[in-house]
Amino acid sequence: MNHVKKNNYIFNDVSALKGVGKKLTQYLKKKKIEKINDLLWNLPYSNTDRSEVIDLNKLEIGKVQTIKVKVIKYNFPRIRNLPNKINCEDLSGKIDLVFFNSREGYIKKVLPIGEWVAVSGKIAFFRNKYQITNPDYIAPITNIEYVKKDIPKYSLTEGLNEKSYRKIIEQVISKLPEIEDWYDENFLKKMNFYSWKTSVEQLHKSDECKNIKSKYYRRLAFDEIFAHLLVLSENRRRIKKTKKKPKIFSGTISNTIIKKLSFELTKSQKKVINEINIDLLSKNRMFRIIQGDVGSGKTIVSFLAASNSIESGFQSALMAPTEILAKQHFNLAKKIFANTHIKIELLTGKTEPKKKKEIIKLLKEKKIHFIIGTHSLFQKKIIFKKLGIVIVDEQHKFGVKQRIDLANKGGDDCDVLLMSATPIPRTMMLTTYGDMDVSKITEKPNNRKEIITLSKPEEKINELWSYINKNILDKNQIFWVCPLIDDSKFLNYSSATKRFELIKKKFPNRVGLLHGSVDKIEKEIILNNFLEKKIDILVSTTVIEVGIDFPDANLIIIENANKFGLAQLHQLRGRVGRGNKQGVCILMFKGNLSPNAIKRIKILKKTNDGFIIADEDMKLRGFGDMIGFQQSGEKYFKIADPIHHSDLFNIAEKEIRKIEDTLNNNDKYNFLLKLFDKADIINKIDFS
Ligand code: ADP
Ligand code: MG
Repeated sequence: MNHVKKNNYIFNDVSALKGVGKKLTQYLKKKKIEKINDLLWNLPYSNTDRSEVIDLNKLEIGKVQTIKVKVIKYNFPRIRNLPNKINCEDLSGKIDLVFFNSREGYIKKVLPIGEWVAVSGKIAFFRNKYQITNPDYIAPITNIEYVKKDIPKYSLTEGLNEKSYRKIIEQVISKLPEIEDWYDENFLKKMNFYSWKTSVEQLHKSDECKNIKSKYYRRLAFDEIFAHLLVLSENRRRIKKTKKKPKIFSGTISNTIIKKLSFELTKSQKKVINEINIDLLSKNRMFRIIQGDVGSGKTIVSFLAASNSIESGFQSALMAPTEILAKQHFNLAKKIFANTHIKIELLTGKTEPKKKKEIIKLLKEKKIHFIIGTHSLFQKKIIFKKLGIVIVDEQHKFGVKQRIDLANKGGDDCDVLLMSATPIPRTMMLTTYGDMDVSKITEKPNNRKEIITLSKPEEKINELWSYINKNILDKNQIFWVCPLIDDSKFLNYSSATKRFELIKKKFPNRVGLLHGSVDKIEKEIILNNFLEKKIDILVSTTVIEVGIDFPDANLIIIENANKFGLAQLHQLRGRVGRGNKQGVCILMFKGNLSPNAIKRIKILKKTNDGFIIADEDMKLRGFGDMIGFQQSGEKYFKIADPIHHSDLFNIAEKEIRKIEDTLNNNDKYNFLLKLFDKADIINKIDFS
């Protein structure tokens, strides 16, 4: 704790800085700068070189330059809205300094007649004469060194100019605490890292600011990655530390289930089942995520885990993100567990109060073994007699904090298993699920045909109708996806509606429409109609849920496909071809495609492997844009860049593994954690 206290100046509010009053505090707040240390991550993006003093006959129009001139004459027009104009000169020429909205008193003070002054600003040329309008700096010659500099350029909001921001940031940088490093010397040397203080100082110097590969930048990026992974590691350590009652089972029920399946489990599924079983049998709690592309068969794997927990005398719970998916899982579970003693129930927001009451009672008495539902499963009044495993399906919005809550809720004996169909690159995996063990299902069931991906310009839309018609005759269902145009619900609604009207004319009574403004209840009705084949075509914006199995959907048409990211297109495509018929995906485009768009189509056509696509997507679009990240709305890093610093992720992971066991009473990282706002999260991890 000493570290933090000694250096807590930097964790004060910005208002503690000299020259930062109420108004400036407000402006800074708009830029999300509240504490002094927030200023450190607002790095300059460029610089303004004011270091050279230029003679007036050598000025360059349009450039920001510094001059040394003598004040000759004031022109203060007495007419409103006309600017004040001050004639100045040096030995080589003349220039006017022009001021809008200025007071005469101020001008007379900073520009005394007959005196030499230093002025810096953007050079313009007007009516045959050089001029600078509202100069950035005016200083007496004695103070010229303050102006004559290469000055870092920060992105600033309205109300903050270079001059006032400079006063603040220079104050902070000059007073950075000298702090004992949290890495040892050998490591710093090996990585070619400088001290934290030097690195910050250098990055706020103009010449290093843009280079995210510089050793200074990399040091700070590493700090951030390290802090992030440290939190995950601590979470993992605390979960693993709790000893649980090992599950004891011989697999009688699950073997019966497997025998009855109409298919053979894939090698990948078997491997993952095995990994899960080892966890169930162990004294340490399971904290695992199954990652597998859409349609790779995660559900059955999770059912087998549930079954083993039940055979050990525990209860099992499965949570799905939506009502409809929960119901689908429930129906499947009833089939799979038929002829066993296992009692299964469904609990969602829609469950009748009377039924709900009964379920609550039976859960308490352990007369329900397997409960499937939505978020409703985690209400306070739901109490399990002996919960052995919580399974969470397709939950992208689950951050570290929610996982902590989940693990707590289940109690010490409860294993935790997450499932996700969003294939994400390794760095992102580390970032989001670094506290969990990962099981990957890498192969698809081999009866599955690769989806055929085609592209088509929008002008040829009329060629589609007969193709769709043929599909309907073949008893195939069709997804028609309209992209989100922008943030406006209305525009999205109207584009999807327009399309819907057109398609409805061609296929009366066979089309449904889903978009962002449809409420939850209505949405489930429409999805159900589609599931029950009351309609053949579902027009929607991207709101169709992940995870629901539409076994007869074999054609998906995606309009304006270049508006979607690769991973998103892949996920959309994964909604079709889940049965044993051929799936087809048609990507429609407007106008000419950019080279980038062409690249993306090629990748999609070439591979059906979500992991490869995720990697390519990240390279093409950058980390922040990736699916899942948008969905969670969480911004993980202030300065680290998972693409350019991917090596640092691997190094940080290795280093943390080395120190993992010594973490609990190690104060050395407090300053670091606080710097990146992680200290609070760590304190909230409480399993004692
Ligand atoms: P996801 O991984 O997307 O959750 P599901 O578990 O919903 O995938 O499985 C998709 C479909 O594949 C289901 O109809 C399921 O019965 C089927 N399936 C699962 N495993 C296999 C397998 N090994 N062979 C053939 N079909 C399988
Ligand atoms: Mg699924």
